[in-house]
Amino acid sequence: MSEERKKALQQVAAEALGHLAWLQDAGVKEVPVVKARPPAAAPTRAPAPARASTPTSTPTSTSTSTSTSKPAPRPYTLNDKGCGSPALLAIRQELGDCARCKLAPTRTTLVFGVGNPKAELMFVGEGPGADEDQQGEPFVGKAGQLLTKMIEAMGYRREQVYIANVVKCRPPGNRNPEPDEIEACEPFLRRQIEAVGPKVIVALGKFAAHTLLRTAIPITKLRGTWSEYAGVKLMPTFHPAYLLRSPEEKKKAWADLQLVMAQLGRPPRP
Ligand code: SF4
Repeated sequence: MSEERKKALQQVAAEALGHLAWLQDAGVKEVPVVKARPPAAAPTRAPAPARASTPTSTPTSTSTSTSTSKPAPRPYTLNDKGCGSPALLAIRQELGDCARCKLAPTRTTLVFGVGNPKAELMFVGEGPGADEDQQGEPFVGKAGQLLTKMIEAMGYRREQVYIANVVKCRPPGNRNPEPDEIEACEPFLRRQIEAVGPKVIVALGKFAAHTLLRTAIPITKLRGTWSEYAGVKLMPTFHPAYLLRSPEEKKKAWADLQLVMAQLGRPPRP
């Protein structure tokens, strides 16, 4: 067996184990047996969302930013994380090396977003943590790994959904973003949502749900109930970091995700 094929099989096995672990934690006791796939079919990853093969050039619009003293931001391309469509790319370009709020000086990397630029499902969290700040991608730490398992348990691959945060720069010490920071950053999230056009948004955790829905109702009451944000159906659920601390709540989070799957016309999964 070739090394490449061995690697692919190992990856499929790891994904399957992750899926089963998540289901077990979510309280699922049985998994129905399905017919084995034809042996000839080599395991391959689903095609990544279509992207232009040639990076676009710098945007044509002139900047309206008031911080004209800053050096011009580098030209972003469709291949930059979360920029896979012209609309998303234009938003990223406008953000540039953003200094619109007081989170800018302490960040390492502005975490724009990641995923399918035309995803039907979008996840929104609070803001980048330490790992995300370093890597420039939302949900890449331990909580991110659990989110990936949750996504896969729903029958998607991580690259098939879009993931973003309410604020794009890490609040120092992982404190909650402050109102002025949200006010400065949230318009860009709204525009990302418009650009992606998801059918459903999942708000991850108390803070994201409270910010997006302008409410202080506890997440324990909000979760499992449909709301709306920017004209899109929104399901609040627990944050993966909370689920890592309170694994007994995974069952409820899985129930929320099953509602999302039903809304998206996805087949129910065990
Ligand atoms: S959090 Fe948002 S508004 Fe604030 S500096 Fe970062 S990108 Fe700009």
